[in-house]
Amino acid sequence: MADNASQAADLSASKVQPKNPHQYTAFVPYEPKPGEDYMNAAQTAHFQKILEDWRGELMEEVDRTVQHMQMENVNYSDPNDRASLETDMGLELRARDRERKLIRKITQALGRIKEGEYGYCESCGVEIGLRRLEARPTATLCIDCKTLEEKREKQMAQD
Ligand SMILES: [Zn+2]
Repeated sequence: MADNASQAADLSASKVQPKNPHQYTAFVPYEPKPGEDYMNAAQTAHFQKILEDWRGELMEEVDRTVQHMQMENVNYSDPNDRASLETDMGLELRARDRERKLIRKITQALGRIKEGEYGYCESCGVEIGLRRLEARPTATLCIDCKTLEEKREKQMAQD
């Protein structure tokens, strides 16, 4: 019976999350050897590759959209088509704006790798952890500080 319960828990944990375009998953999770130092050369290389690949992908996406929008601009002459096109473009531009911000964050994270600061909480200095960094390679806060920050932001929004 206990086995059934843990199996059910496993199943719900492995349920596919809705795909978040702002998450990068095209890498093999890093398996540290026993006793391996946190953020040694192999680990920083792992995250540098993730960040660079991700940034490359985002930049291609931005380029594609710009080309796509330029093409559509030429093709539409009907005013109704134009109106819906402009709504589409507004959405696209907002999405691109988010991507540009993300690209900036990734570049900053790459800078922290160079400085040897990557992977440590900016607020309290503890190790952010490999699994959390793989889920969120641009993270600058440990999960505790992040939770605290989110609570504070919520409180400020309520005041
Ligand atoms: Zn912290």
